[in-house]
Amino acid sequence: SPSLVWFRDDRRLGDHPALQAAMDRGGPLVLLYILETDAARPHGGARAVWLHYSLTALQAAIEDRGGRLILRRGSSAEVIDAVIAETDAGAVFWNRRYHKPDRDRDAAIKDDLAARGLTVESFNGNLLVEPWEVETKSGTPYRVFTPFWRAATDGLDVTDPIPAPQQLDSCVPDVSSDGLADWALMPTNPDWGSKMMDYHTPGEAGAQARLADFLDGPIEEYAEGRDRPDKALTSRLSPHLAHGEISPRQIWDACKDNDYTSRKFLTEIGWREFSYSLLFYNPDLATQNFNDGYDAMAWDHDDQAFEAWTRGRTGYPFVDAGMRQLWETGWMHNRVRMVVASFLIKHLMIDWRDGEDWFWDTLLEADLASNAASWQWVAGTGADAAPYFRVFNPFGQGEKFDPNGDYVRRWVPELKRLPKKYIHQPWKAPKEVLTDAGIVLGRDYPDPIVDHKSARERVLSAYKTARNSA
Ligand code: FAD
Repeated sequence: SPSLVWFRDDRRLGDHPALQAAMDRGGPLVLLYILETDAARPHGGARAVWLHYSLTALQAAIEDRGGRLILRRGSSAEVIDAVIAETDAGAVFWNRRYHKPDRDRDAAIKDDLAARGLTVESFNGNLLVEPWEVETKSGTPYRVFTPFWRAATDGLDVTDPIPAPQQLDSCVPDVSSDGLADWALMPTNPDWGSKMMDYHTPGEAGAQARLADFLDGPIEEYAEGRDRPDKALTSRLSPHLAHGEISPRQIWDACKDNDYTSRKFLTEIGWREFSYSLLFYNPDLATQNFNDGYDAMAWDHDDQAFEAWTRGRTGYPFVDAGMRQLWETGWMHNRVRMVVASFLIKHLMIDWRDGEDWFWDTLLEADLASNAASWQWVAGTGADAAPYFRVFNPFGQGEKFDPNGDYVRRWVPELKRLPKKYIHQPWKAPKEVLTDAGIVLGRDYPDPIVDHKSARERVLSAYKTARNSA
């Protein structure tokens, strides 16, 4: 009987244990992707755009090998049932996911199919170690990254990635499929999505090319240069990883010479693993403070300030550059993410959940685990978080990590003629310098929407009050 492979956030053919299991079983294949209408959290706008391109690439890769991908929209249990009825599939395979609502749904489907005599198997396709494999001696999950990663990598035996199959020509024919265009994942009027793709190449081949480019040079400078947004020294693999177009095992394997630079890079992959562990044990990671000692925090609800932040018009050039990079490209450098997140939470005192939600909608790689864990890290409410009293200085960070102002000039072009000395603090520039640079503050570029020093004092006192009342 045919084997059904249910593709989810693992849109690749290489190192796909579920696909491999179906191939090993023999017989015809049914390759299915479901746009789930019962998803716990629907795709944000940018993530949906990437999904469109990712599915286009997966369809093409499957067709190149003689196969076909079936697309269906609906509740996952109903679609699986329907496709089994139409194809007479006798086995169903998928790679596991880690958010409780997804796991509950998968478990219910598994129980139901097994009770009906079908073979159902799930695999680890997207992590180096699954959350339940890394526990403290007392059997509890780790709350601190370094011991987590030490335990995770201690004696870690990463199996060799599975090569992509050359042929998929035994796919069951004549099963109806939705057209991808019917899903309308791409925005129209305006179409901001295809413009983002000037910066990315979604799909498995794009992911492998990105990894190869990174290993061919930037990785050598990664350990020292990864905090510099003015240089392209990080891998930019995050959208590919979040959509499962490359597996962490493939990355591990490519870096396994394990010299100093690879180790630093793999530690960042470790943060992704840690985030998944946090999400697995804390399903409400995106909506509830991990540390409830901050639940009483008196957040400000300032729509105007929030909008200035989203549009990159706060008057702090480093923050604005980051928010505009995100808006245009669907990606932002990690150092700048920390600074813009800190600015929203600490300078504007806006709830971290509003920022998390904005990133969810605008990041191509929006990832339930990494996004929520990172926002809580910056807010100081998370596991192994930055202390609440760390308030990033938005111009000091710029001066340190974008010392010549190139990053700001790239994304905030109205400041491009401002000399390096004032690029991160235009309000300090003498009038004649501003005139020479063709800028009138408040007209061409905003005055700072908050004063750094008083904002810092305000938030520290609010955090203290919240902690005292907990
Ligand atoms: P590299 O430095 O090349 O790292 C390699 C890979 O390691 C990344 O692709 C990513 O998968 C993983 N990684 C690196 N840093 C982290 C981290 N701190 N936490 C978890 N995984 C990490 N990452 C996401 O994948 N999705 C998100 O939605 C997301 N939201 C974030 C929100 C905030 C407020 C912050 C501060 C960080 C967020 N990150 C998120 C983590 C990190 O910023 C990105 O993974 C990284 O910038 C991606 O760029 P890169 O691929 O060049 O990273």
